[in-house]
Amino acid sequence: MQELIPRSSPETSIPTIAVLGAGAAGLMAAIHAAGPARRVVLLERTTDGGRKILISGGGRCNVLPGTLDEARFVTASSPNIMRKILRSWPLREQRQFFEQTVGLPLVLEPETGKLFPVANRARVVRDALVALARQRGVEWIGATEIVGLESTARRWQLTAVDGREFTADAVIITTGGLSVPATGSDGFGLRRLAELGHTVHDTYPALTPITLDPPAYADLAGVSLDVVLTATMPGAHRTTSGGFLFTHHGYSGPAVLDVSDIAVRSRLAGGEPARLRVQWTSLDATAWTERLAPSAQTVVSALRPPLPGRLADRLLTMASVDGATALAQLTRAARLRLIELLVRFPLPWTGDEGYRKAEVTGGGVALDEVDPRTLESRLHRRLFLAGELLDAFGPIGGYNFVWAWSTGRLAGLGAAATLTRETRDEGRET
Ligand SMILES: Cc1cc2nc3c(=O)[nH]c(=O)nc-3n(C[C@H](O)[C@H](O)[C@H](O)COP(=O)(O)OP(=O)(O)OC[C@H]3O[C@@H](n4cnc5c(N)ncnc54)[C@H](O)[C@@H]3O)c2cc1C
Repeated sequence: MQELIPRSSPETSIPTIAVLGAGAAGLMAAIHAAGPARRVVLLERTTDGGRKILISGGGRCNVLPGTLDEARFVTASSPNIMRKILRSWPLREQRQFFEQTVGLPLVLEPETGKLFPVANRARVVRDALVALARQRGVEWIGATEIVGLESTARRWQLTAVDGREFTADAVIITTGGLSVPATGSDGFGLRRLAELGHTVHDTYPALTPITLDPPAYADLAGVSLDVVLTATMPGAHRTTSGGFLFTHHGYSGPAVLDVSDIAVRSRLAGGEPARLRVQWTSLDATAWTERLAPSAQTVVSALRPPLPGRLADRLLTMASVDGATALAQLTRAARLRLIELLVRFPLPWTGDEGYRKAEVTGGGVALDEVDPRTLESRLHRRLFLAGELLDAFGPIGGYNFVWAWSTGRLAGLGAAATLTRETRDEGRET
């Protein structure tokens, strides 16, 4: 057996922590696990790691949100446990960590409430985290896909696809979910943890564009605006507001992505498809009733702005209203038809872009099967879990990095503290 991570022995007595996966959670776990009395080794499938960080936020990396609303996270596990985990590292301290410890100043984008690196490039975030990990003595083993994870007499044995074997005293699994497999995450951790007896709540693509086939609104592709969007299925109801974009295949933009998991889950459940309703502007029915009150103004000029021209024309056609009609000539029935389309537009959809485009994976390892103070598995000692493979995700806006950073840190600290305590206790016993 080739042992790239040397077996810690009573002679060397240096405990080893293997962090499996160098994404957002893995890098943060390694940084926090590192310390003078132990080896921390990052095992990563790709050559460089952090590939999701590189493509995040449109290549700019939305590192954190400006403010955090815990209630916007989604989990099928206990929301209480999820909150405990989230509260382990308050947002203010996370920002401080990036700005002062990582040396990466952040700036708030006022129109979106998101924090980006001042350099405005995702690469600086990935590179700064890798550099900090190396500076803290973390060893890097890249281009290594792990395909086996076994527990052997108090230690963990990991096997790479090419047959190399590694052993460690503790393992932190941060291999991510199933979204955008091209970045390196294909669900290995989820599969292996299920085999090890963990409950994995049903996984599904989340924060993914929604499709319509045939694409009845493809002629509107490129039209974007701020909307209020509501999604409803049995047992789930969510209203979001924000950017909406017509695409060649359907719809995207933050508001669409933020409710997409409800559409996806209704599709997977095989029952009634979720109902999506759009209020196209910030104006509600009362505000439109006032705006469309009888006057000499034409209907179309009352609609645009606030609506983009192409969408206004489409809604007028759907309401069978001639835009050139003066508001004074608009019949009550036509006015009501138009207002209904403006504030409760039933958005047709037939599918979604799936994991290929999903920013995160919904579902994952049940949170009640980890100790919320350390993220150690309740089923297997010295096995710690962090990141997207755990059962929680948040909306667009930096929430998913909050989850990756806080769970990564907690697992890193947890593994280090556990090994320190156990090594000390063993020393006392001998
Ligand atoms: C296009 C896109 C844009 C996004 N933008 C944002 C944003 O701006 N803000 C935000 O908060 N969130 C964003 N997200 C979500 C965010 O990137 C993820 O929530 C986060 O990266 C998850 O971190 P993770 O470390 O748990 O998993 P991952 O980042 O997926 O990392 C898992 C790592 O494990 C490695 N790995 C997997 N299997 C193995 C194996 N068998 N052996 C060895 N290594 C393995 C992978 O190569 C990878 O490096 C975005 C996601 C996408 C896809």
